[in-house]
Amino acid sequence: MLQLLENKKSVSLKKTLTVSTPLRYLKGVGPRIADLFAKRNVHTLQDLVHWYPRGWRDQKMAHEFSHLSDGAYVIMYGTVKSKKILRLGARKRMYEVMIQTAGGVIACKYFHLPYRGYFDGIHLDQEVKISGRISYYRQYPELHHPDIFPFNEKESQEDQLIPLYTEMENISQHKIRKLIHLALETLKASPDFYDPLPEWLRDKYRLVPLLEAIQNLHQPDASLSQEYFTFCAPAQRRLIFEEFFFLQLYMTQKKASFKKEKSICIVNKNLLSAKLMKSLNFTLTNAQKKVVQEITQDLSYSSPMHRLVQGDVGSGKTIVAALAACQVIEAGYQCALMAPTEILAEQHYHHLRNLLNPLEVELALLTGKTKAKEKKLILEQLASGEIMFCIGTHALIQEAVKFHHLALVIVDEQHRFGAHQRSLLKEKGSYPHFLVMTATPIPRSLAMTFYGDLDISIIDEMPPGRQKIITRKTYLSRKSHVLHFLEEQIKKGRQAYIVYPLVEESEHIDLKNATQEYEKLKQTFPNFKIALLHGRMRIDEKQQIMSNFVAGDTQVLVSTTVIEVGVDVPNASVMVVENAERFGLSQLHQLRGRVGRGVHQSYCVLILGKGFSKEASLRMAMMEKTNDGFKVAEVDLELRGPGEFLGSRQSGLPEFKLANLVRDSQILKEAKTAATELITMDPLLKNPEHALLKKEMQKLSQVFLPG
Ligand code: ADP
Ligand code: MG
Repeated sequence: MLQLLENKKSVSLKKTLTVSTPLRYLKGVGPRIADLFAKRNVHTLQDLVHWYPRGWRDQKMAHEFSHLSDGAYVIMYGTVKSKKILRLGARKRMYEVMIQTAGGVIACKYFHLPYRGYFDGIHLDQEVKISGRISYYRQYPELHHPDIFPFNEKESQEDQLIPLYTEMENISQHKIRKLIHLALETLKASPDFYDPLPEWLRDKYRLVPLLEAIQNLHQPDASLSQEYFTFCAPAQRRLIFEEFFFLQLYMTQKKASFKKEKSICIVNKNLLSAKLMKSLNFTLTNAQKKVVQEITQDLSYSSPMHRLVQGDVGSGKTIVAALAACQVIEAGYQCALMAPTEILAEQHYHHLRNLLNPLEVELALLTGKTKAKEKKLILEQLASGEIMFCIGTHALIQEAVKFHHLALVIVDEQHRFGAHQRSLLKEKGSYPHFLVMTATPIPRSLAMTFYGDLDISIIDEMPPGRQKIITRKTYLSRKSHVLHFLEEQIKKGRQAYIVYPLVEESEHIDLKNATQEYEKLKQTFPNFKIALLHGRMRIDEKQQIMSNFVAGDTQVLVSTTVIEVGVDVPNASVMVVENAERFGLSQLHQLRGRVGRGVHQSYCVLILGKGFSKEASLRMAMMEKTNDGFKVAEVDLELRGPGEFLGSRQSGLPEFKLANLVRDSQILKEAKTAATELITMDPLLKNPEHALLKKEMQKLSQVFLPG
């Protein structure tokens, strides 16, 4: 029987195209087109039908010339009025076809012949359909190298909603549409085209079947044009839901698997925490209290905590971490805190030592700089359990580091660490409790999606009496005023940062900018101590320069964007950002957070470079208006999308094809509910109905590293 089946398979293989059939077997796809698609990661028929339009064009508007914006893709119908060849020079020719459309006469221009005989098929007074991109010439719209076809009566002229695809060199929109339609027809008959969403789920959440959704995306119903433009069409809703759902399911499943791990329940009288609280000269904010409570609760469970604590710079995350550590230490277990750089590790160490030393808690600092002899001792004392709290850098995850009984792992500034590094530190204990702290405010929708495997706490309140940083945008032409202001501040004893953006492609130009500025500043202010910091320096050089600034030996630090996140220099009161328009809002907020950390009124000056856009100016105005990192983050996410926002290259996050976290937050909520419901019902996706989902989850686990 099996053999029979296999025979049958190999016979029919030639005829039956399947979802995984390479694109080149599709009629009309030669090596050239296959290559073009391959460059965009479209390799199979399945990939092709998932090559979604990036917009739609409503044909009802098409014949109105006033609607034709430069660069817009159009389809028009009309009559050929003339065709001629014009000489543009000794050897250059231009072919021109004038076509009378409902909106007026439009010129179709060809600067080279598409293929020999192309114009032979076009006759005067012929009814044609043209498609192409509008360009303006002396205020008149015209089309360059459009496709002209004899007009087919059967095709309706007006009631069409035309999908628009990403431009590809040398392949027309018409051709892309044709190929996709063909692929869709093929897949309809294909034996292995399945909908991964089980029927009960589709019913419950009102989702159309996959095939219907894809088809309606490529061949939309014109009567729904408003829905398509606002991404509310049933086809769109289904596909957006699916994208969110897979990720939610993955995260929910992972979170559920954490719950099965056995860790140490930490329950005690909290004497150490109480002592620590008493020693403080302030009381916790309500937000801090709430987060400490959440952590205490987590620690008391027998499954390990996995919690992300978000709080803007200065919101007081360190004391929260210290209070968590106290509970673990009082119970007799060890803690580790990992920071992304030596300077940050050192700052944490000093801060925590001040807090915990009076309580007779043994702390240690372990970084790449730790001397061999000292390191040996630390390793011994960690292994014996003498040191209760070890703070450090990547040095903590080295093979040689062994803990006696590690029960709490804290990671600061998590986006700087790979998930892999996090899990290495976790492996130093047996399912230790895990706390991540980040000063990068992440909008709820984004956190829910990409940190869905973690519980999230937010410190959304600043300690009382914090001064507001005054933010002002200005222009390059006012640079001398900025420098004058800088001078005043430094004469008052303050320190300042001047930051230049660093764009990868033009790293040398940026470096030149920063270097030139540095030389100029030294001439302008011969009495000030000025230093230059950039990404190409050796690590120890960078650290030396940073330490000098922290110690107050340097007054002005000119840098490309390598200033450490979280570095604390209370005396720094001015942050000047050049070419501010080139930064994302969240980045600007991070930079701004470098100042305002002491008692002095602090300032952030955003200088717009040459040729900034109106939109950039508005963004800067938003920075002037708010100091709230979460508000900044929301707007930033809306403007740049999640990939840019989180830095998708470093975070390895999958990009959504259709879904948008801001626009589709309602669908996101539903997808999360659905994922939770499913995992509660079938945690391991064992039900045959869920086999396809399980496969999707395996695919996703290859995108995300273990962590
Ligand atoms: P961050 O969240 O940026 O890590 P820190 O933990 O470094 O912030 O705290 C910043 C400063 O605020 C520290 O000097 C800390 O002692 C102080 N601080 C923390 N919590 C409070 C509070 N509730 N009231 C007053 N000051 C606080
Ligand atoms: Mg901090």
